Amino acid sequence: MTKFDVAIIGGGILGTSISYWISALYDLKICVIEKESDVAMHASSRNTAVVHSPFYLNPETKGILAKSAIISYSMWENLAKDRNIPWLKTGVYEIGFNDEQYKSLEEFMEWGDINGIPKGDLELLDGKEIAKREPNVKCHSGVFCNREVSTDFGAFTREISKDSKKNGTKFLLNSNVKSIKTNNGNSTIMFEDNSEITSNFVINCAGGNALDIAQTMYLAKEYSDLHFRGEYWVAEPQYRDLVKSTIYTVAEFKGYPFLDPHWIKKANGETEIGPNAVPVLSPETYNGYLGDINTSITKLKEIVTGNALKLLYDSQFLKMVSKEWMSSISKTAMVNRVQKFIPKVKPEYFSKRGTAGIRSPVITPKGKFLLDVMELENDNSYHIINYNSPGATGAPAYSAFIVKRLQEKGFLDYALKKKESFWNFDDVINHA
Ligand SMILES: Cc1cc2nc3c(=O)[nH]c(=O)nc-3n(C[C@H](O)[C@H](O)[C@H](O)COP(=O)(O)OP(=O)(O)OC[C@H]3O[C@@H](n4cnc5c(N)ncnc54)[C@H](O)[C@@H]3O)c2cc1C
Repeated sequence: MTKFDVAIIGGGILGTSISYWISALYDLKICVIEKESDVAMHASSRNTAVVHSPFYLNPETKGILAKSAIISYSMWENLAKDRNIPWLKTGVYEIGFNDEQYKSLEEFMEWGDINGIPKGDLELLDGKEIAKREPNVKCHSGVFCNREVSTDFGAFTREISKDSKKNGTKFLLNSNVKSIKTNNGNSTIMFEDNSEITSNFVINCAGGNALDIAQTMYLAKEYSDLHFRGEYWVAEPQYRDLVKSTIYTVAEFKGYPFLDPHWIKKANGETEIGPNAVPVLSPETYNGYLGDINTSITKLKEIVTGNALKLLYDSQFLKMVSKEWMSSISKTAMVNRVQKFIPKVKPEYFSKRGTAGIRSPVITPKGKFLLDVMELENDNSYHIINYNSPGATGAPAYSAFIVKRLQEKGFLDYALKKKESFWNFDDVINHA
């Protein structure tokens, strides 16, 4: 049976980035276990593809994601230049519709400053000024950030995997983890085809399945998760420049992962609207409403019995969910949500669907959405759960922080053998 020092479950942008750093720092036997035929086949390719500047992240509650995003920006920019990956600076207007939301925008200006966004890169504007710059946008006010970029996170993940492979990481593709058993400090990981490997240490970065995997290792039993599909529509070429920048709206209800669909300028020249947030039964239900029958039944039971049950008594949640369902069933309903801030858009401007992606927020024991990333550990494993947006933006720095934490906790107690690497570990850690 093949034995590894470190086994990372999940070849998304997070697991691949963690393998990059560990393989650049040590001579260890490392593997990334991925059930698909390539890395980044799920959330890491199926997303809005925006490199976010963290002005909208509260430094007190989302400090680590904000810090990761700010540090990662130039890391991605340099990699994009070096590997010829799309990098289109689109700028973003985050807009509000009333005095109440203006207060949020003022707060964003402060958060942007605390989170390290250079002063000249953020402007607080009234609706008139925005209408001068973007005549087809209607709003009360907005924050403009010129440091917002459209890219391709799937392409980034594939590049990082190449570097990681050069440093000796084995990518075990088409390997679906079915169970993990720990005995005498070694974990035996069993796959769907009944083959197995062992590893001294396991890092769980399985995205929408991360909570399930942690629970098979008796962690986070009191948490559950829900899956929300984000759908997009692509604008016909003659309408794509109706608005030149990306437009986001201030969340109407804080504490829920729901925003009205955005107007998104893409690095490939297209414009999309989306995503909505339609509850689905598995982290891979990209079409229709049901996933494979086993996952659906498990999730259905969870939806009606787990912590998520409490959400069914939350009238605001139910109201929002029905709006999201409507915008999935009806393109017109989706476009109506965008008409609120771009009155000129019409359903017939959008004839093709974009690539849907699925977010899997975790529900706390109190039946609330967990708003931050959660890290859990036992003697032989480390788990990263609820790694949601802007997770792709922050992955290079966040993964370095994880590796630093593993070092400090003694989980990577091996001699360092630093190799040449495109990004420098100490620079990231010292920057923090
Ligand atoms: C609709 C949407 C829009 C988003 N927009 C943005 C954005 O614009 N900017 C941004 O920064 N972030 C965005 N995000 C968030 C970002 O995409 C995620 O935070 C990030 O991709 C998460 O990466 P990951 O590696 O944790 O997960 P994933 O990419 O999902 O990777 C997990 C991997 O684990 C594998 N896996 C799961 N179970 C098993 C198993 N049992 N055995 C083996 N392998 C397994 C999966 O196949 C998958 O490849 C968006 C997300 C969504 C869904």
